[in-house]
Amino acid sequence: MFPGSFDPITKGHESIILRALSLFDKVIIAIGINEQKKHFFPLDERKKWIGKVFEDYPQIEVITYEGLTVDVCKKMSAGFILRGLRTSADFEFERSIGQVNKMMLPGVETVFLLTTPEYTALNSNIVRDIIRHGGDATPFIPDGLDISPYLLD
Ligand code: ADP
Repeated sequence: MFPGSFDPITKGHESIILRALSLFDKVIIAIGINEQKKHFFPLDERKKWIGKVFEDYPQIEVITYEGLTVDVCKKMSAGFILRGLRTSADFEFERSIGQVNKMMLPGVETVFLLTTPEYTALNSNIVRDIIRHGGDATPFIPDGLDISPYLLD
């Protein structure tokens, strides 16, 4: 299971997901609904975009969830939590989440894939800022996503 906000999905996420296909027979992309975190793109849109990006991959499923990631892993019978690592800051953040998840659900391992160098600087926050200020975000998001309704005139 690959949990995240995907607000929006970027080429960094896409790359991690495609690389994970050589490790796992199925990848569930789980969009977390976090009441405390203000999102930019509506949940439906984020889900639709991810579905479109991976429409040719029957082994990739997209779900949305509320609550604890470990509870969804249990519900979906997922054996692994997948996360991407870009920087040492990511590592510090991920380490505590991964260790606590392991304590709550010992049967599930968190697996980290290092980002490829070209996507190290990329995150959804930067993409949102580009879109918000009328820049061209297409180099940073998967091909074929229609973000035009969100662009400034
Ligand atoms: P969250 O809100 O949980 O951080 P994100 O959607 O920002 O969710 O990220 C989901 C996962 O994707 C995280 O593991 C994050 O480290 C990873 N990720 C995000 N951007 C990249 C990138 N450019 N390269 C590799 N992994 C990435």
